[in-house]
Amino acid sequence: MKFEAIAIENIPLIHNGDDLPSIIYENIELQDRDIVIIASTIVAKAEGDTFKLEDIKPGETALDISARNGKDARFIQAVLTRSREVLIKIPFMLVTTLTGHTCVNAGIDESNIENGFLLYPPENPDFSASKIGNGLERLSGKRLSVIVTDTNGRAFKIGQTGVAIGIYKIKPIKSWVGEKDLFGKTLEITEEAVADELAGAANLLMGEGADGIPVVIIRGLDYYCESRTFIRETYFPKERDIIKKGLLCLHK
Ligand code: GDP
Ligand code: MN
Ligand code: MN
Repeated sequence: MKFEAIAIENIPLIHNGDDLPSIIYENIELQDRDIVIIASTIVAKAEGDTFKLEDIKPGETALDISARNGKDARFIQAVLTRSREVLIKIPFMLVTTLTGHTCVNAGIDESNIENGFLLYPPENPDFSASKIGNGLERLSGKRLSVIVTDTNGRAFKIGQTGVAIGIYKIKPIKSWVGEKDLFGKTLEITEEAVADELAGAANLLMGEGADGIPVVIIRGLDYYCESRTFIRETYFPKERDIIKKGLLCLHK
């Protein structure tokens, strides 16, 4: 058994309005059931989700948090604008974004963008993934899956990893419930986070710095799904999100 991870070379610096499907299509021969993995950074750039720090006017809440955690109030305002729930304010902002993804700073980046600019993650990453997927399927005539990724830290462990924040035509979770283990016992709990694992694998080729590799193709694994899928399938419903409940308790 094996699969391939292929870094797409020669992708230019991406700007507002760039046509990502065409740019990707011109630089790789796609095959049926390829999984196209795209760093959210270039999706945000193409969608024009870049903002000047100096244009942001911090509100009262942002100023208050800034006084407590020492971060730039304008940056905090940006984070608040993209958050529906704040879980931690000090020493950093851990939030749930408007689409339900929980991460530090709502995924807003200051790296791999010109100085003084902020890069907001795509506002609706599933929609972005499906737009790119549709475009690539039309250009190539192949069946494709798409994953839009970001780099996130994890609770409890040092180190960041690629995670899926938006998907198109891929089942993000593989349930092992009901399968047998080596000794014939029936598995009862394990659901494998396939989309995150693929994002992590792709991130090994992307890196975090000046590599210039925002798109990776994973070939040889079959997770294709004929219908649209949604990343919210991977978020715990409120009542099952034990860690979040604990964090919110701390504010009380
Ligand atoms: P994130 O994980 O989505 O926040 O993206 P990163 O900032 O970690 O970048 C992932 C990869 O994409 C790195 O190899 C960057 O050098 C590369 N990258 C970021 N922006 C661009 C761009 O506009 N053009 C190209 N070719 N690569 C980029
Ligand atoms: Mn990022
Ligand atoms: Mn990254």
